[in-house]
Amino acid sequence: MLEDKFGRRFHYLRLSITDVCNFSCNYCLPDGYQCDSSRDFLTLDEIRHITQAFARLGTSKIRITGGEPSLRKDLTDIISICANTPGIEQVALTTNGFRLKRDISQWKNAGLDAINVSVDSLDPRQFADITGQNKLAIILEGVEQALEAGVKVKINSILLKQYNHNQFDTFLNWVKHQPLTLRFIELMQTGDNQAYFDANHFSGMPLKNRLLQQGWSQIIRDKAAGPAQEFHHPDYAGRVGLIMPYSKDFCASCNRLRISSTGKLHLCLFAEQGLDLRSLIHAGDQQALQNELINLLGNKEATHWLQDGFTGATKNLAMLGG
Ligand code: SAM
Ligand code: SF4
Repeated sequence: MLEDKFGRRFHYLRLSITDVCNFSCNYCLPDGYQCDSSRDFLTLDEIRHITQAFARLGTSKIRITGGEPSLRKDLTDIISICANTPGIEQVALTTNGFRLKRDISQWKNAGLDAINVSVDSLDPRQFADITGQNKLAIILEGVEQALEAGVKVKINSILLKQYNHNQFDTFLNWVKHQPLTLRFIELMQTGDNQAYFDANHFSGMPLKNRLLQQGWSQIIRDKAAGPAQEFHHPDYAGRVGLIMPYSKDFCASCNRLRISSTGKLHLCLFAEQGLDLRSLIHAGDQQALQNELINLLGNKEATHWLQDGFTGATKNLAMLGG
């Protein structure tokens, strides 16, 4: 089992497969994707090696992310590789949802268990304002289809002071009868978005208080859970999660490691650098790769330093996946 010097265990891998994106969310890629680095993304064989190494070290859940992962034509094969790796019990995908309606059945058949779809507003004009794409309707149709196919669905929504925080009740109404989980995520500062962050960061704490006052109860996390505090309510089919990276002790329950689309291990979303694994992957020696992962994990720090404004090497979250 991968365990760090603070006793945290890592059974959850976030695997980025591209940093390219077709949306221009104003908190992430306001000018759209800029091709300023090599696009030498992990191949299927490399993904197979990495997945096996993590699985042999106790990883049971993989989330595929990006950039926009569905821009890769071999996404279905990638899902299948992850799902067929012994030890991997759950495969999830984070997506902006533009390919959901078209591809969800083939992703599900390949072994996908769960998706997180980013929907920052249920108002089509505001959605287009935030993401640069007028695609809310087709994304919501994809969400319906995913639910019908039996895929677990979570909706990621970033809380933004100047845009969507007054959409909270509209979002809650949506999950009254829909069995999906809404996850409100506090905006994080990255290298590129400081002014935007200052103008838009909105704390999740008032929302937590509001939920508790309205009869929502907090759910105890299971070991494969992500970083959200989750709530349920007897009158609602869906759940609500809050992700508050600036809250005290957020990092104490960290259970995930990250691999970038070019094969670098990131010990934290906001680490100073990625640690290159490609030469080891190419050498084909599984044991050496596993030993190196254990060795590099020794450098994982207790916490990110986001509260002090340090964002490490992360210019935007499309570089690595949120
Ligand atoms: N393109 C896919 C999507 O948008 O779902 C996957 C990659 S995206 C980087 C993953 C998640 O990170 C999305 O839910 C997005 O809203 C979130 N995200 C991006 N920038 C963020 C920021 N600065 N703070 C908090 N979350 C952010
Ligand atoms: Fe693209 Fe996702 Fe970033 Fe939006 S949040 S620009 S969809 S990578």
